Order: sequence, then C-alpha cells, then structure tokens
Amino acid sequence: MRYYLDPFGCVKNQVDAETMMAFLNGAHWAAAEDPAEADLIIINSCGFIESAKQESINAVLAYRKTYPDTKIVLAGCLAQRYAQELSKALPEADLLFGNQDLSKILEAVSIILEDSPVKEGSGNILIPKTAAYSFSGKRPLLSLPGSAYIKISEGCNNRCTFCAIPRIRGPLVSRPVPQALEECRELLDRGIRELCLIGQDIGSYWTDRIAGSGESRLPELLEALSKLEGRFWVRLLYIHPDHFPLPILDIIRRDSRFVPYFDLPFQHGSHRILKAMNRRGTAESYLALIDRIRTMLPDAVLRSTFLTGFPGETEEDFQALLDFQNKARLDWVGCFTYSREEDTPAYSMKPRIPKILAAKRKRIIEEQQVPITEKQMNRFIGRILDVLVEEQAAGENGLYLGRLFCHAPEVDGSAVIRSAVPLEPGTLIRGNVCARAGFDLEVAAIDSSV
Ligand code: SF4
Repeated sequence: MRYYLDPFGCVKNQVDAETMMAFLNGAHWAAAEDPAEADLIIINSCGFIESAKQESINAVLAYRKTYPDTKIVLAGCLAQRYAQELSKALPEADLLFGNQDLSKILEAVSIILEDSPVKEGSGNILIPKTAAYSFSGKRPLLSLPGSAYIKISEGCNNRCTFCAIPRIRGPLVSRPVPQALEECRELLDRGIRELCLIGQDIGSYWTDRIAGSGESRLPELLEALSKLEGRFWVRLLYIHPDHFPLPILDIIRRDSRFVPYFDLPFQHGSHRILKAMNRRGTAESYLALIDRIRTMLPDAVLRSTFLTGFPGETEEDFQALLDFQNKARLDWVGCFTYSREEDTPAYSMKPRIPKILAAKRKRIIEEQQVPITEKQMNRFIGRILDVLVEEQAAGENGLYLGRLFCHAPEVDGSAVIRSAVPLEPGTLIRGNVCARAGFDLEVAAIDSSV
C-alpha cells in the first residue's frame, strides 16, 4: 500500500509529517512520489492563521477533485483545532486526524481503509486525547540535505493573546534529555551535520516538569550534546525573549559547534502593545538582552518576528516598533500582519486595525529591514567559515548552494559556493566569504575535506 503525504505549515509540523511517515513505513507502507500512485493521501495541515487554514482546505478540495476515489486524511493543526466543524463542512476529507499522538496514524489508516470503528472519536474524526511523542527510530527527513529538526518539546504555556497554538498543541510537554540526545546521536550517525532544536518555545524547556522554579533545563541539554563526538552544528530555534536562559551563552562560547544564532520572536517594540499581547518584556529589556548576547558572542546572528495590526496599534505604537527595529539592528526579520483568531484573548480586543493599514505597516518594516540585513551580512565578508553544502546549482559546474551559520534553513539568505572540486550535498566544508549579493553571501570553497 502506498501513501502520499503533503506537509503544510511550520517546521514543527514538518517533524510531525516525518513522524507519521516513519510509523507508516514501519507498518510496511511505502511513500508515493506522485499522489496519482497513492492509495491514501495525507494532508498535514496548518491551523495557525487564516491564510494557512485556507491553504490547507484548498488542498483537500483540490486533491478530492483530482483523485475522486482516493482516501484522504486531513491531519495536523487544522484537524486538531476544528475537527467538529470540519467533519460536517468538509466531507471531502474521509478522516480528520489530530496531532497529539502520531502513532495513532496507523489506526486512522485502518479506519478508512477497512471501515473499522473509530475508538477515540466518532464518525470521521480521530483526535487522540493524550499527547505522546513516542517515536524513536529512523525518521524519514523532509528537511534540506545534511540538516534535521529535532523537537525537544511540544505545546506552550506562554499564552500570548494573539496566538491559538496553546489551544492546538496543548500545554508545554518537554522530552526527556536522554530521548532527545538519543535522537540527535542517531541523526549524526546518519550523516546529518546540522541539528536544529525546535519547540514552540525551547527557552522553557523542562519548566513543565519542575514545579514552581520555571528554570529552563536547556543548558543541561546543550551540555549533554556538547559531549557528542564529531563536527556538526547545533542550531537553536524559537526562544521566547521573556525568559531567555542566559547560561546557554557560556556553553555556546565554549563549543563552536553550537552556532551563535538565535531566533527570538520579539513581536513588537511598543510597551503598550507588548502588554496587550501578554508579553512581559519591553523594548528596553529586549535591547538589553540583545546587548548581553552580542557582548558574550560578538558573532551572534539574531532573527526575529514582528506583528503589525494588533488591535489598538496606534501610529505612535508603530513608530515605537520602527525605533526598536532601528536600534536592535537584527540580522533577519520576518513580519506578519495580525490574524484575528477565535478562542484567543485578542479576538475581542478593539479597536481593530484595518487589514490594509496592517499590510502597509508590514511593508514599511520589511523595507526598513533590507539595508539593516545587508549591512549585518557585510561583516562576514573576508571570513573563513564552515559552509553546509545543500545542492549543486542547476546546470552550473562548480557552483553550489548552501548555508553558513548565519543562515537558518528555509528562512534566511544562502551561501553561493564556487568550488574547483565536486562537493557533496549535506557536507560541511571550509569556505572564504568573498562578497555579498543581496541577502546571499558568495563563498569560495577552500577545503572540502573537513
Ligand atoms: S510563545 Fe506565544 S506565540 Fe509562541 S507558541 Fe507560545 S503562545 Fe504562541
């Protein structure tokens, strides 16, 4: 039997897709390259914001139209969040499968292929109640060559007022250090050279297991990882800036395999708006954190996310965000417009900001960020750095694409690598950064044998 899985949404969802594939492969299913060859189509949906939800629903409708007889499972966050509504409104999906216990994908498959009864659900809904991240073993990877995402926690306890994720993914559940470590070791044995640690907020790692202290055990996990042998990168993605675990800075300074790259979603620069978002930080405390990181790690690369159009955002608030952006001089910034999500505290907040104004403010942020990013990337010109090779540029001999430590997968610029010798995708080489072209850095390969 063959399945075709179409992943949507964020990298956390991608790990879920890989985990479902691993369970299916373990049950002697095979992944089809083409949905036309599949007995089953699984859409691993995103349910975070309006546009992503619509994209997932459109995918179900498109697959149903093209493959009228193939069974379709709508999995992921959209199914988890709107199972009841969609079971009536979206008959095109044969089954709605939640994201709490992915091992139940085998039960989901047997339900729709053998018409067997639904245990944890009803009709065409299977939403496992218990959060379980039980997979251990060889997970197929949908990530770029040489790179893999490792989920060290699921869910979130932060309760930002605009965010529906805690409702979709539940409260914070951290994976034990030995389990996360074992997965990292297994991936390194498979030749992976970049381990991206992810969660909704990895800065809160293990705070769900220690009553009251709130002290993150991320430093402990990094200490354990630093005992592993070999040459590889560890990249930390998504640390909530309100509780940044400062002890990790010293560990990163001591072991250069931990790349000094931090994705810190600051969201805004106005004190009033940050408070309305239920975020404890201020522009001043965030700038102090940035200073602290850059003092400890002069090479530190910072990425962040800003949100425009949050209810009540005045011109003055927006100006405060622009000022913060200018002072912070972040390397990379992603900006989103506020999406009004039901069941979130911000849903009923007023006054609402017209979408057109929110979009205009987003454009202004993006335009202001271009020269900042370019200037920040200039500082790597003339440096000799590790480069992760990802692919050969199509039809170009001696030209490859890859990333330096200052480039997170799929969101930042790239390294354009010139090499006199053939390079292997998924390997780390040494390269001399010669120039910048837009957001990309041009690199001359100097040693492909590291
Ligand atoms: S930290 Fe805030 S924005 Fe991020 S997942 Fe948690 S509640 Fe949502």
